[in-house]
Amino acid sequence: MLIDRFGRRINYLRVSVTDRCNLECSYCVPRRDFVKLAHGSILSLEEIEEIVKEAVALGITKVRITGGEPLVRRNVESLIARIASMEGIEDLGLTTNGTLLDRFAEKLASAGLKRVNISLDVLDPVLYGEITGGGDVKTVLKGIESAKAAGLGPLKINCIILPSVPEEEREKIRRFCGDNGLDLQFIAYMNLEEGSGPVEKTPRAHRPPLCSSCNKIRLTADGKLFPCLFSPRAVVVREEPSASDAILKAVGLKDEKGYSFPHESMSRIGG
Ligand code: SAM
Repeated sequence: MLIDRFGRRINYLRVSVTDRCNLECSYCVPRRDFVKLAHGSILSLEEIEEIVKEAVALGITKVRITGGEPLVRRNVESLIARIASMEGIEDLGLTTNGTLLDRFAEKLASAGLKRVNISLDVLDPVLYGEITGGGDVKTVLKGIESAKAAGLGPLKINCIILPSVPEEEREKIRRFCGDNGLDLQFIAYMNLEEGSGPVEKTPRAHRPPLCSSCNKIRLTADGKLFPCLFSPRAVVVREEPSASDAILKAVGLKDEKGYSFPHESMSRIGG
């Protein structure tokens, strides 16, 4: 079992499989100095599998695949199938913008994926296009239908409380989720340009959870293990004798409270 210096049990690994995304959400992709990772620095699916395997052997029971947009990573479904079959995995989820789910839902369900979170901040097609840099909300709605049909439920909708979006848009999302049997979770907006203030729960948002109950470590697509979403310190897995050493080191770096300023882009660390 993995226990950090503050007595928290760490059993949750978030894995960002790519920093690439087919959307450009204004709040997620940094406007300044954003450089895509070089292909050579990105972990192979086999390397990710090995890290997850060692993490599970150490006490990780819950894994979430994220990105960038995880569904733009080629063969991500084969990685999901391999993780799903690992003994010790109790919960395997995916966070996606939903735009490619229509194409992937069946494959993901047969791979053994248990849960899907879909990011959807507004239903209005014009606002959606503006926020996502040209995305088409219809593709997400189609993706949700396909995911339901493939049995990937219960589906969760992640909706960021964006200051620029009027409250009635969130009311529409609430109604849409109620009518379609979708779980809705509101996420506190974090200002990545200026720092967000302490990474703690705000009254209206379900996420982020309180630092005192944090159970996570995060792996970026280029193999850095972050002890906290915005931690200034990370462990480079390829520089350690083994993935297990890297995981133990990252757990050892967990601080009591999170940080308010990002040291990696959200699209790289996976939100
Ligand atoms: N492309 C996938 C998606 O859209 O869900 C996965 C990656 S995305 C970085 C993962 C999560 O990070 C999403 O739920 C997104 O809403 C959240 N996120 C991104 N930027 C954020 C911000 N500035 N504040 C709060 N949450 C953010």
